[in-house]
Amino acid sequence: MKWINHQIVTGFIVCTATNDALFTASSIVGAVLPDRVEGSPPRDSAAYWKWRKRHRTWSHYPLIYVALICAAQFAKDYYPNPTLAVALNVVTYALVGALLHIAEDAFCGKVPIFTPHGKHGLKLFKVGTWREYFFVALIILICLLIRFGDVALLRSYFP
Ligand SMILES: [Zn+2]
Repeated sequence: MKWINHQIVTGFIVCTATNDALFTASSIVGAVLPDRVEGSPPRDSAAYWKWRKRHRTWSHYPLIYVALICAAQFAKDYYPNPTLAVALNVVTYALVGALLHIAEDAFCGKVPIFTPHGKHGLKLFKVGTWREYFFVALIILICLLIRFGDVALLRSYFP
């Protein structure tokens, strides 16, 4: 999935779940984190295949991000300080963005789940195709329905 689509889908999901602008912004930053830590693919052919072999392994291993979220939440409870709590929540939502990135990658390829090298996924679409944009539009629609799709609102459109 393209980075912009990772950011849009992640932003809509977190905004729908939290209704918080700061957490949404933080998750949008984290939505490209797993790819960013890998660095960009090298142009040189041999270096590219070496990079490709490591692609979506440790950087996309969800347990690392879950452990970091637990550490951030533990630190929040251990050092009760309002400013630190906000900072740790911002970090937590960046890591939630990274987890959503991995989940989104699982729809267009394979990602590790139990071990860093045992990959699983659905491969519903190729990156950059109309199917990817359809998937993004579908997630946005679902988020909008959850957020605004109450019965009273629907009745106002269909009297
Ligand atoms: Zn990725």
